[in-house]
Amino acid sequence: MENLAKTRSHVLALSRFEPVKFACCINSCICYTGPYADLDECPNCRTSRLNESGRPRRIFSYMPLIPRLRALMSNRTYATHLQYRADEHAKNRRPGTTMDIFDGLHYRKLLGERVVVEDQTYPHNYFSDHRDIALGFATDGFTPFKKRKHTAWILLIFNYNLPPDERFRKDNILCVGIIPGPKKPWDADSFIYPLVRELLQLAIGVSAYDALSRSLFALHAYVITGFGDIPAISMLMHMKGHNGLCPCRMCSIVAIRNPDSGNKVLYVPLSRHNHPAPTDVVEYRPENLPLRSHEDFMAQAKAVESAPTEIRREELAKTYGIKGTPLLSALGSLRFPQSFPYDFMHLIWENLIPNLVRFWSGRYKGMDDGQSYVLSPDIWQAVGTTSAAATRTIPSSFGTSIPNPATDCSSFTSSTWSVWSLFIAPTVLQGRFPEDRYYDHFCSLVRILNLCLQFEISEKDIDEIELGIRKWVVDYERCVRPFRFLSEKMKADSIHASSLYYQHKPERLPACPLTIHALLHIPDQIRWMGPCWTTWAFPIERQCGYFQRSIQSRRNPYVSMDRHLTDLSQLRQIKILYNLTDEQLGRPPEYASSQTKKLEDCKSHLVTFAPNIKRIYCRPTI
Ligand SMILES: [Zn+2]
Ligand SMILES: [Zn+2]
Repeated sequence: MENLAKTRSHVLALSRFEPVKFACCINSCICYTGPYADLDECPNCRTSRLNESGRPRRIFSYMPLIPRLRALMSNRTYATHLQYRADEHAKNRRPGTTMDIFDGLHYRKLLGERVVVEDQTYPHNYFSDHRDIALGFATDGFTPFKKRKHTAWILLIFNYNLPPDERFRKDNILCVGIIPGPKKPWDADSFIYPLVRELLQLAIGVSAYDALSRSLFALHAYVITGFGDIPAISMLMHMKGHNGLCPCRMCSIVAIRNPDSGNKVLYVPLSRHNHPAPTDVVEYRPENLPLRSHEDFMAQAKAVESAPTEIRREELAKTYGIKGTPLLSALGSLRFPQSFPYDFMHLIWENLIPNLVRFWSGRYKGMDDGQSYVLSPDIWQAVGTTSAAATRTIPSSFGTSIPNPATDCSSFTSSTWSVWSLFIAPTVLQGRFPEDRYYDHFCSLVRILNLCLQFEISEKDIDEIELGIRKWVVDYERCVRPFRFLSEKMKADSIHASSLYYQHKPERLPACPLTIHALLHIPDQIRWMGPCWTTWAFPIERQCGYFQRSIQSRRNPYVSMDRHLTDLSQLRQIKILYNLTDEQLGRPPEYASSQTKKLEDCKSHLVTFAPNIKRIYCRPTI
């Protein structure tokens, strides 16, 4: 292994990039940074920081962001691509049309604001320099091994300055670290502490070399959005999460449960009519939800933190759904909750569509007996067979091929559900339901989804999406009696049909999870943060899968992932610094099946660029 070590030392010398290692709790509760930096034991599980030989029992490797952004600016090709925000998008922008995150109200508002870091106002505005970089921060928990409960949390940075067709490519997504498992972190902020410190530096400005003007300049970069699934974002925002009394991060709707059932889970229907224990609000109107503002959010977080007693603190946390002030609020470029949109992928293709399929196939939480939305087993089998057969004649550019939803539901992924729901289901479900209103209701959803997925969304489209989603959710819940706030035409539409899924029956509350309510916030999210694809989780899932496959050791999976991340980041850094093509560098190891393979990969990379080392060192770099 001496040769592998040697190769790695060459790679380190060439990349001039290495992870910063922090000790963390062996149970992954905290990382010893910030307020925990000097502690000898974990404040949560009381395990010691060091082992008998005085070494940290577990390490969190942080991959610094600043050197990587500097390298991008020092590379002529990348520096040109990074101009997309200020150049290509700004030139092609049409007010009133949403094409990218830069058309969202949040970014437009930031343009007029001075940068503030730790209460100090700086003389520059956000994105006042054409080289300023817009970033997105994303996280997700994943299981290194399918059959074990261990989780690791990936921390990713997306570069929005790159054109849309480049920014989600594997090589352009910056992984700043993987929080080692085995458990969900007790204080995730302690792991993102080094990132936030770098982002504060980047807000003030760090020196960098601009390959286009061939001069030094102050590089600024700002995180303008955070995204991931509901548990991941609840963790970053310090919220109680989807099972709380006030579970929605966008509004303060109060959740309810059915006291007559043994089920303690809370749900969030708009209507609480007929409910044995109604909340103060009997009916939430979808056009008038109690939306949270940044100021309210921060004031509530502060109130929770400054509560005089632990009991009072817990009470307030429960009422507000907020546990305290998130570390990310130190970044002036983020607004709570507007910068943290619900992820479209999880809402639609991991929850809504699979849940509708459960209803139709009579598998939704044991509440489908005698319901007219359930397809007979024969018909559902026919739908499944036709769906699977249909994929053979659909061009692959429309998406991946899909399995049979009747027999192979468990192997569906968000991608396959998206292909099925958008292209196949509207045809194969036609005429299959005992009553047409279920099919019509589903088709109105597909129409809304297609509007959301357009590359250019007009204000009229957003208004249509808004009206469509409100009607869809109200219909989803409805019973025969029409809502009084509907227009006359909508009342007439509602009256002729009978109930759909929730039916305003307390015993059917499980039909109203947070993921149904969250749909109502999609239109505002598009207004604030641009099209749904700018912050959806497909690229996060791909990265998680990629690191899952990189694990070499079942005994030390986290060390193995860290090692892989370091190798990969260093090779990418070399590629950017010395302007190498993939061919010159050799393909970075996707994942190696053994140490030998890994060694061969590293050696082949080194051989490829070793003859050029002299030239490489002479190139102007940062
Ligand atoms: Zn611990
Ligand atoms: Zn809400």
